[in-house]
Amino acid sequence: MVDYLKVVEAGIGVETAWNIHVTGVERRGDGTTLHLSTTVGEVQTRNIVCATGAAAHPRLPEWATALSVPGVAIHTSSYQYPRQIPTRDVLIVGGGNSGLQIARELAASHTVTVAVRTRRAHRPLASYPLAAGGRRPLFGGDFRPEPVFGDSYERLQQVGVRVVPGVTDARGGAVTFADGTTASPGSVIFATGYLPGDDWLPDEARIRGPRRTTTPVPGLFVAGFPQYSRSGVDTIAGVSADATAIAHHIINRP
Ligand SMILES: Cc1cc2nc3c(=O)[nH]c(=O)nc-3n(C[C@H](O)[C@H](O)[C@H](O)COP(=O)(O)OP(=O)(O)OC[C@H]3O[C@@H](n4cnc5c(N)ncnc54)[C@H](O)[C@@H]3O)c2cc1C
Repeated sequence: MVDYLKVVEAGIGVETAWNIHVTGVERRGDGTTLHLSTTVGEVQTRNIVCATGAAAHPRLPEWATALSVPGVAIHTSSYQYPRQIPTRDVLIVGGGNSGLQIARELAASHTVTVAVRTRRAHRPLASYPLAAGGRRPLFGGDFRPEPVFGDSYERLQQVGVRVVPGVTDARGGAVTFADGTTASPGSVIFATGYLPGDDWLPDEARIRGPRRTTTPVPGLFVAGFPQYSRSGVDTIAGVSADATAIAHHIINRP
């Protein structure tokens, strides 16, 4: 992927500036110029694309801070390999694709329990990313949970993984499941998803919200956020739909 991105950069002549964090964007004066605030100063420009990722920050449940286990409690973004989990038993909170893939890997060496709040449909791996697609409503509403690809819950149970209801609370070393039962896991992995990196967008862009890549702020666009666009734009293959639309908008701007 790094090699690919280098080829793209060289091919289209893009110069990348690293280690700069964007903190906000503002429209000033007659509004034709946008002011981008960054950790190294301000930039003035006519067009800005917010492409800071639909999965930018780990999402943790509210009760995560009240949990204290003898082993480790980590988010999937920090998980790399089974030896990171020092205890024999591990509770994975979240039964989406990340949770199930890690459960499969740990099943060979650990006693694994997966807490599943919403069971998802199962689709064969070969059907990704097409089966992940479909339209989602704009601005909230009930997003259809993405199916799980690869192992189903039943298949994991056959290799010894316990599947239990979602976790509703935790205190000290004990977690409570939705059916009222409790457990004291040795380690916990939060497979609870991510928050989008759109936190630096101005309120003005949020009042009505972006609509399929455009926002109420002329010249400010968003790419790769399914909640603003459609399902699938947060995949490597799918984001080109947003990118192409934005390129057309910018070229055709008066
Ligand atoms: C667990 C997981 C598994 C996935 N598996 C697949 C898969 O199998 N196939 C697939 O197609 N896709 C997969 N995806 C999705 C894939 O990661 C995305 O499609 C892709 O990374 C999106 O690219 P992006 O450029 O939109 O966002 P990102 O790759 O998230 O890039 C966003 C960039 O913005 C930077 N950034 C964030 N905030 C700021 C800020 N304020 N200022 C400056 N920079 C900022 C970040 O540092 C990052 O470099 C997966 C995602 C996850 C989380």
